[in-house]
Amino acid sequence: KKASSNPQTRQWQDLGRDHHLPPFTDYKQLNEKGPRIITRASGVHLWDSEGNRILDGMAGLWCVNVGYGREELAEAAARQMRELPYYNLFFQTAHPPALELAKAIAELAPEGMNHVFFTGSGSEANDTVLRMVRHYWAVKGKPSKKVVIGRWNAYHGSTVAGASLGGMKGLHGQGDLPIPGIEHIDQPYWFGEGGDLDPDEFGTRVAEQLESKILDLGEENVAAFIAEPVQGAGGVIVPPETYWPKIREILDKYDILFAADEVICGFGRTGEWFGSQHYGLKPDLMSIAKGLTSGYVPMGGVVVRDEVVEVLNQGGEFYHGFTYSGHPVAAAVALENIRILREEGIVERVKSETAPYLQHRWRQLAEHPLVGETRGVGMVAALELVKNKHSRERFPAEQAVGMRCREFCFDNGLVMRAVGDTMIIAPPLVIDPVEIDELIAKAHKCLDLTA
Ligand code: PLP
Repeated sequence: KKASSNPQTRQWQDLGRDHHLPPFTDYKQLNEKGPRIITRASGVHLWDSEGNRILDGMAGLWCVNVGYGREELAEAAARQMRELPYYNLFFQTAHPPALELAKAIAELAPEGMNHVFFTGSGSEANDTVLRMVRHYWAVKGKPSKKVVIGRWNAYHGSTVAGASLGGMKGLHGQGDLPIPGIEHIDQPYWFGEGGDLDPDEFGTRVAEQLESKILDLGEENVAAFIAEPVQGAGGVIVPPETYWPKIREILDKYDILFAADEVICGFGRTGEWFGSQHYGLKPDLMSIAKGLTSGYVPMGGVVVRDEVVEVLNQGGEFYHGFTYSGHPVAAAVALENIRILREEGIVERVKSETAPYLQHRWRQLAEHPLVGETRGVGMVAALELVKNKHSRERFPAEQAVGMRCREFCFDNGLVMRAVGDTMIIAPPLVIDPVEIDELIAKAHKCLDLTA
C-alpha cells in the first residue's frame, strides 16, 4: 500500500507509529504501511480518512448487529450517564439497568436459563465460565471435576483463560499457554480435515473425540465442554448435521456441563436469538458479548441454567467479578439494542428473508475458479480459496492469498476477513437485499483480482 497523500491521514498514521500498540497486529509490518483510519459509519457502511465508502462485511468484529448510526443507542447512553453513570454490583448492591437487562436476556435465552452474570467482554465471560464450572462442581462435592475441554482452532478470547480455552496455536505460543486443566479436541472442519469421509460421517467421528478425551482424563476429572455453535474466528466452521446430536449424547452420558460460547452467534447472527436455539443445543452456560450491545459499548455476560444457579446458591460467596460488570451505561444500551432487535423484527427478518437471500447469493460464488467451497448459516458465511477446485489443493501458505484477497476487498470498498485462505463475512443483521448484491458484486470482483 502506498503512503497516503492526505496530510490528515498521514498525521494519524504517525500517531499510531509513535504511540499506539494495537491488538492482533504485526507492529513492524504496520509501521511500514500505516493503518487504515476509519472515521465514521452509517448503516452497513464505513468511511475512511481518504473519503472512501466501504461496505462493512464483518459488522466491525462480528458485533454491530443493528448497524451503525442508531440514534436511539446514543440517546440511551446519554440518558443513563445523566441518571447514574456508574455504580457497581458488588457487595449486595444493584441498579435498575442491570436488573432489567438480566430479565430481558432471560426472556430470549433457551428455556430454563434465567440468570445472567455480567462481564465487560467476551473474554471475561469465558474466564467466568471457567471459574464458575469449577466452583459449581466443588460446591456439588466433586472438586476433582476441573478440566475444561475446548476445541482446536476455537477462539474464546485473549485473556490468559480465554486464550487457553481457545485452541489457536499462535496464541498458545505466546505466554506459555494453555494454562493447566484445559484440553482440546478437533474441530468439525470438514473441508479442511474431512479427508475422504462424507460430512455426516466426519461429524460423528470428530464428536466421538469428546468421548475418548473424557475417558482418557476420567469422567471424575472433567468439568465442562466449551464450544461455539458455529466456530467463528477459526474460519466459520459450520458443523455437519450429525455433530451436535452426538456431542449432546456424550455430554449426557458422562454428566459434563456444556458451555456454549455465543459471543458471535448470540443476538440473531444465525437467524435465531442464540445459535444454541438454531442447533437445538441445551447449554448449561452461555457466554455472550458483541451483539448484546451491537458493539456500541463494551459488555459481556454468562447466562446460567437454573440447576447451576441452585448449586451456586449453596456455595457461599463467589469470589469473582469486574468493576464494569453490568455497567449501567452498557446495560442501558444493551436494553435499547434488544428493544430495536425485537420491535423491528430484525432477527425474524434475517431468518425468513435476508439470510436466505445472502446465502443463496454467496453460494453462487462457488462457481468462481478460485473457490473450493462456500458455506454459511444465517448472516455468517465463508469461502475457501483453492489452487485447484477439484482436488481441493490449497495455495502455498507463503503466497498469503487470503491476505491479498482481503487487501483487494478493502481497496475496492468491502471489508471481508481472511483466516488463512478462508474468506469470511458476517455483515450487520440489517443489511438489505440491495446491499447484499453490492457485497456479492464486490466479493466477485476481488476474487477476479486475486486469481
Ligand atoms: N468468544 C468468541 C466466540 C469470540 O469470537 C470472541 C471475540 O472475537 C470472544 C469470545 C472474545 O470476546 P472479547 O473480544 O469481547 O473479549
